[in-house]
Amino acid sequence: MMTLRDSFSRKIDYLRISVTDRCNLRCRYCMPEQGVPSVGHQAVLSYEELLRVARIAVELGVRKIRLTGGEPLVRKGLLGFITQLCQLPQRPEVTLTTNGLLLADYAADLKQAGLSRINISLDSLQPERFAEMTRREGLDRVLLGIEAAENAGLTPIKINMVPILGVNADEIADFGRLTFTRPWQVRFIEFMPVSSGLEYTPEQLYSASRIQADLQQLAPLATEGSQGIVGPAQIYRLQGALGTVGIIPAVSEHFCGSCNRLRLTADGQLRPCLLSEQEIDLLAIMRQGCSDETLAELLGKSVLDKPERHGLREADYAPGKRRMHGIGG
Ligand code: SAM
Repeated sequence: MMTLRDSFSRKIDYLRISVTDRCNLRCRYCMPEQGVPSVGHQAVLSYEELLRVARIAVELGVRKIRLTGGEPLVRKGLLGFITQLCQLPQRPEVTLTTNGLLLADYAADLKQAGLSRINISLDSLQPERFAEMTRREGLDRVLLGIEAAENAGLTPIKINMVPILGVNADEIADFGRLTFTRPWQVRFIEFMPVSSGLEYTPEQLYSASRIQADLQQLAPLATEGSQGIVGPAQIYRLQGALGTVGIIPAVSEHFCGSCNRLRLTADGQLRPCLLSEQEIDLLAIMRQGCSDETLAELLGKSVLDKPERHGLREADYAPGKRRMHGIGG
């Protein structure tokens, strides 16, 4: 079985594919209020092209594929694409990250298509605050979507929350409390000032240590599993809880040592790191008629291009051109 290894001996077996940079929310730390400019179908990879890259990545040793965006559920034809991904001979695990707005409509079909699990992003349990942060209504629909995903067996459910100082960080305890009665993993992700033009400032980052302290107010917090670290998340269980909590110190600590990812943006750019501007233009190269061998070489090159760590904490960090919706968070 093939294995991809980068220059720092990390095994790369995870591909995140952004299927669109469009979204049905306008989260203030992610999307511009006016949305993204309308571009023709030609500017994004077709499902055939995405499948081709995924097939080659899987042949090279990728075992897990996560679909993201933008909001993946707004792209037409997604179910058919998931079915094809799941039917690749190596049977990669296929998962999805969604804001949950359309999930109640799709959960059963997603399961049927072969999707394993789902992550739902949710930053507030308060309807008015949800609307303020996302510039759209819809908390009730997201909650129905989570229920539908659970009923469909897209489990374990993971909820991702980004606490922002002065905005929603006071809800960490409310989110943590959910795990007492539900077998979910509620994950708190540090806000990343990835690009300029976001409505929240780097000073509003609510650090992993503060998140942990807030959770400890609820109940003793025990490290889950032998090391407490699964990928980038540190996993804990509040005493007596059915579910677990995760803390992702995306900025304050480097989780890069365990990074196993490559990313493909909707416009066909292969990125070795969420926070590096290095990209390989697979869209252009595929449309010039490149061979599978060339694509495989470029995947290998991107793996070797992976930086040892991101530079978010460095004094000279310059925010990138893309916001998270354009990278595929
Ligand atoms: N629409 C899908 C969703 O809501 O999960 C997938 C795309 S969204 C860009 C993926 C994740 O990125 C969400 O959990 C969102 O909260 C997170 N995100 C976006 N901008 C971020 C930022 N500046 N810092 C930290 N997380 C961010």
